[in-house]
Amino acid sequence: MAILSPSSSVSKEPLSFPLSIQGSNSKYLSLREQTIFGAKGKLGAFEQTQLKLYNDSNYSGLKMKASRDPSWLISEIKSDKLESPATKSDTDLFDEMKQRFLSFKKHKYIENLEHFQNLAKGQAPKFMVIACADSRVCPSNILGFQPGEAFMVRNVANMVPSYESGPSETNAALEFAVNSLKVENILVIGHSCCGGIRALMSMHDDVETSSFIGSWVVVGMNARLRTKAAASNLNFDRQCRHCEKESVNCSLGNLLTYPWIEEKVRNGELSIHGGYYDFIDCTFEKWTLDYKASNLKEESRKVAIKNKTFWC
Ligand SMILES: [Zn+2]
Repeated sequence: MAILSPSSSVSKEPLSFPLSIQGSNSKYLSLREQTIFGAKGKLGAFEQTQLKLYNDSNYSGLKMKASRDPSWLISEIKSDKLESPATKSDTDLFDEMKQRFLSFKKHKYIENLEHFQNLAKGQAPKFMVIACADSRVCPSNILGFQPGEAFMVRNVANMVPSYESGPSETNAALEFAVNSLKVENILVIGHSCCGGIRALMSMHDDVETSSFIGSWVVVGMNARLRTKAAASNLNFDRQCRHCEKESVNCSLGNLLTYPWIEEKVRNGELSIHGGYYDFIDCTFEKWTLDYKASNLKEESRKVAIKNKTFWC
């Protein structure tokens, strides 16, 4: 059990963020960096980010990676990006999609016909998964969820708004999964190089944003504030990395603002988990919210975690 700290290696610095951005619902925010999801135009910056990370010997969380050469992974990502749909016609793309569907039908559906026919009658997934919309981080691919195993919602930066924030597609999905499907686990998955988190960390507080992205990612404002407080001595790229995990934990705290979730967690009927997928090294961290040890009375909702594991 430990009070959450996405990276215990960062030093604690005095708060350095402007007071004017502390309100989590501030509308007076703008984006310095509008490009998200590793868009093609940002590929150079993306690669530079990785090089900076691996070159810093003071960052203990990355020491293991420093001994490994990620260049082949980076070049693989780069070549994937550059060969994407621009070089193929729509017909080619949908022909490939058709072949993938027919392959699924032949090798998955037909061979497991009874299972799929049962799914046609209803679903009883054990997991509710909240993940980023980023095309590189599909949980079904990474964690092998099969049809019927996970009720899923994906949004920009895998965020869970608080109960007080009002309706959204994310809490609508949560309501159905928890109250109707009665899932036993909620898993929030963050990831490396998250464009939504970069947008959150890039915000200015002096210009009103008309961006839907900006209006959405302020959901994670507490994660930004905690990152600025704990990791202001790090460069911007590493602050983003810190925030990617901090944001997951803020979402775990926000989950407990829903009375029908908090009650089930308190009664042991529902468990809440965080995850972090690093697609540069292909590693996965997983942890569980420790309800009894969490401090939920303060507005900041500092949660405690337990059973942290690292899959590599
Ligand atoms: Zn993301």
